[in-house]
Amino acid sequence: MRVINFNAGPAGLPQPALERAREELLDFQGSGMSIMEHSHRGKEYEAVHNEAISLLTELLGIPATHQVLFLQGGASQQFAQVPMNFLTPDASADYLMTGVWSEKARDEAKYYGKPRVAGTTVNMDGRYTRIPKQAELQLDPQAAYVHMTSNNTLFGTQWHTFPEVGGVPLVADMSSDLLWKPIDVSQFAFIYAGAQKNVGPSGIVLVVVAKDFMARGRQDIPKIFRYSTYAENNSLYNTPPTFAIYLCRNVLAWIKDVGGLEQLEQWNREKGELLYGAIDRHPDFYRAPVEKDSRSYMNVVFRLPTEALDEAFVAEAKKAGMVGIKGHRSTGGIRVSLYNAVTVDNVKVLVSFMDQFIQKHG
Ligand SMILES: *Cc1c(COP(=O)(O)O)cnc(C)c1O
Repeated sequence: MRVINFNAGPAGLPQPALERAREELLDFQGSGMSIMEHSHRGKEYEAVHNEAISLLTELLGIPATHQVLFLQGGASQQFAQVPMNFLTPDASADYLMTGVWSEKARDEAKYYGKPRVAGTTVNMDGRYTRIPKQAELQLDPQAAYVHMTSNNTLFGTQWHTFPEVGGVPLVADMSSDLLWKPIDVSQFAFIYAGAQKNVGPSGIVLVVVAKDFMARGRQDIPKIFRYSTYAENNSLYNTPPTFAIYLCRNVLAWIKDVGGLEQLEQWNREKGELLYGAIDRHPDFYRAPVEKDSRSYMNVVFRLPTEALDEAFVAEAKKAGMVGIKGHRSTGGIRVSLYNAVTVDNVKVLVSFMDQFIQKHG
């Protein structure tokens, strides 16, 4: 029996994508072997690879000015690889600070250039409970790029309007909300996302890069770290994580089958409204720190009146078949992640559990 999985990442995968993998596992399309046993230069794997790229391109409406790349090393490697490609010791880049992932990205940039904080909503206690307003940003028109984190997985905040950055290239870590809804890719010079939150399994990073921005990348770094190397080789410069890309293909095909990103956005908004609705019905019991207009539709954080109640909530939810809701080790409390694989019905089960829990303990 499968549980209701609210994990923050790696997260649940849509069941049809897993079932397809099970059906194809031992004998991929009559080839007598699993897709993960195929050569990455063979026609079977190449078809899967290209299908994953074309599905992502179609679903996101990626224009011809941009290219899809598949990389490894997690989103964390991108924190270093972006400045490695686009900064020089004297150049600066603007960082918009909205959580620990933004901090980690900024810290890695110090090895290659001068990251500058162009906006932050950090509190006295080192936490973040909101997204900055446009008027709070102090952008440098000379910056090599502006870096932002579109959804803050730990603190449960999300940019609902992307910042205006003038002519400076906008780089976004979308690890925890890529594909939650349609976006205008042309606003971004560089998007990266570790797949394991909202798109697929761990081990693969999806990148969408503007070709003119990529052309400015440094050529005096090792080939394996240059984005242009991956672009010139259709992300087949060396052996890619073939099975992870195959599973992303299954998820992307599922998204297309159910109606694309418009349908996912409708479900994701419904899920968020159900859960925030339950919180707002009992704001003294389910205490949500995030300002309402910064609330994330992907990661919903709250805490109960005591730590003992937080623990009881997690334990009783588990008995009711729901897992993955314990808050991050650094923040405590409860975090419910509502990525694409979580269904509206899953959230209804949680909401009725929350209403019952308060009758028992409130
Ligand atoms: C999880 C996460 C990361 C780190 O991803 P890894 O693949 O573990 O390196 C980075 N940024 C955001 C926004 C995340 O949610």
